[in-house]
Amino acid sequence: MSDCIFCKIANHEIPSTVVYEDELVIAFDDLNPQAPVHTLVVPKQHFENIVDGVPGAVLEAMTHAIAEVARIKGLDEGFRVIANTGAAAGQTVMHLHMHVLGGKDLGEGLV
Ligand code: AMP
Ligand code: ZN
Repeated sequence: MSDCIFCKIANHEIPSTVVYEDELVIAFDDLNPQAPVHTLVVPKQHFENIVDGVPGAVLEAMTHAIAEVARIKGLDEGFRVIANTGAAAGQTVMHLHMHVLGGKDLGEGLV
């Protein structure tokens, strides 16, 4: 997807603060953090959202990347993973991504 911002970040065509990267996934800090730690885990291949026929290997790589982000960022006390899916859920970038939020007590609001 030539006009997709997360495809461009995955290709290093536009800069980001990379936290973790492997063959299938890149994780970088959100530009507009909603918690002390707010990192996005993004597959390098373009999928619109989590129900867009994502192969198991990609989901497994994303899970691995989440664990790496939690380790690197020291989220020992816990963290929240969110995948907004569709406009009504607040998805603004239509390239699958998982928000990893932590670094403070997130409380029990919104699940
Ligand atoms: P969502 O609303 O779930 O689609 O989340 C999109 C997220 O991408 C938002 O939290 C934005 O702050 C973040 N974002 C948009 N552009 C960039 C960028 N160039 N680098 C880092 N994060 C970004
Ligand atoms: Zn994309």
